[in-house]
Amino acid sequence: MNKTKIIATVGPATTEKKVLMDIIENGVDVIRINMSHATHSYCKKIIEQINEINKELKLHVPIMLDLAGPEVRVQKIEHGEVELLPDSKIKIYADGRIGNNESISVNKEELIQYAKFNSLLKLDDGKITLQVLNKTEEYLECMILTGGVLKSGKSVNVPGVDLHLPFLSEKDKSDVLFAHKNHVDYVALSFVRDGEDILEVTDLLIDQKDDHLSVISKIECESAIEEIDEIIRLSDGVMVARGDLGVEIPLERVPGVTKMVINKCHSAGKISIIATDLMSSMEYSIEPTRAEVSDVANAVLDGVDAIVLTGETTIGLYPVETVNMMEKIIESTEVDINYYDLLDKAMRTEKQDITGALAYSVVECADRLKARAIVIPTMTGYTAKKISRFRPSCPIIAISPNEEVLKELSMYFGIYTYPMKEIKNFDKMIDNARKVVLSKINLNPFDKFIVTGGYPLGQSQHTNFMKIEEL
Ligand code: PEP
Repeated sequence: MNKTKIIATVGPATTEKKVLMDIIENGVDVIRINMSHATHSYCKKIIEQINEINKELKLHVPIMLDLAGPEVRVQKIEHGEVELLPDSKIKIYADGRIGNNESISVNKEELIQYAKFNSLLKLDDGKITLQVLNKTEEYLECMILTGGVLKSGKSVNVPGVDLHLPFLSEKDKSDVLFAHKNHVDYVALSFVRDGEDILEVTDLLIDQKDDHLSVISKIECESAIEEIDEIIRLSDGVMVARGDLGVEIPLERVPGVTKMVINKCHSAGKISIIATDLMSSMEYSIEPTRAEVSDVANAVLDGVDAIVLTGETTIGLYPVETVNMMEKIIESTEVDINYYDLLDKAMRTEKQDITGALAYSVVECADRLKARAIVIPTMTGYTAKKISRFRPSCPIIAISPNEEVLKELSMYFGIYTYPMKEIKNFDKMIDNARKVVLSKINLNPFDKFIVTGGYPLGQSQHTNFMKIEEL
């Protein structure tokens, strides 16, 4: 049972229910929809299909809507793509025209207004570079420095230039409301710059009395790095969005920033996620490169909660094979995680309270006794998140009557979910925990598992009991 979760972004390659079912059965734990490309009717179709799959497979796969945010994108291009040749010129408008090799349109007029003479425009995560030669009120005339094939919808970055874009557009706001109304579980915020940006979204959620939708802030620009502590404090978790980050800051800084963010998330007890290019060669190839295998393994060894597939599962030729390969790398690498080190680090930054002390003891005990599972009856998910934070080497099985809690928990390191009615009697609860472990794991005589939580369920202020069970 793998502990590092896989988030798959859906797109044309994975829209059909059969493919969604296949990637989930092969190891996908969370479904991400990128709102830069998706309409509400597309989202509804995916949400319906995931709800059906959850019922059929008895799973709690959550859905993450990733907002477009203040990002600039290329609009429609004739026949979907155009080849941009180096040393030729192209005009950039913001008037919705269909693009070709002479002119293209972007979705934000602020680009035309604020890009400067000589500014570098990085297209498609930096694969294509243009330089502004001339500008009018309507367009930027650019020289193509590095050419390539440009497709509709690709990103445009202008590193170091403030385009004065508001954080939430009207579309982003309607996407947040859509997520709330359709019981989506996670919303990812693109191009967060500081705590104020996050508060704009949490205020919207408070207006809707939504206490379910969790907020993941994407780290993909320099100001987010400068404001990282405040961003982590105000978010449920953080995603290092390496695609845009590698364009906005020098590429060689990306690994160091990634490790810094993961460490800070561990210290704060928040979700850490790494995205983009983990296995991008598998968009066209049945095998990943050695470097990609190492990249996935490296994230697993760092103890992140989840890793994200983007192009591999949206437009790739081998979405199921990619997930299958990622799952194999995770399985083979997790045996080498330094669990003791992660536990120790978490303890050093954990609050010195009853829950912290008991959660640490549960995980320490589970590792020492080589327990096969930690089972947590939970109403709110609180204890399960605490235990996950300490990164036990065995799986955590969260059992709850609350389906929304189970979906939220499916994102967290090591947590598996199981639905069950609320049980008030303590002995009956332990008995049920035993039945759940036996149904999920092949146990041998003398194998141990630990049951922990707050008792009475849902009323206790703390995680206050631990029971070690032996077969
Ligand atoms: C990224 O930039 O790495 C990312 C995950 O964001 P998006 O897919 O929105 O570009």
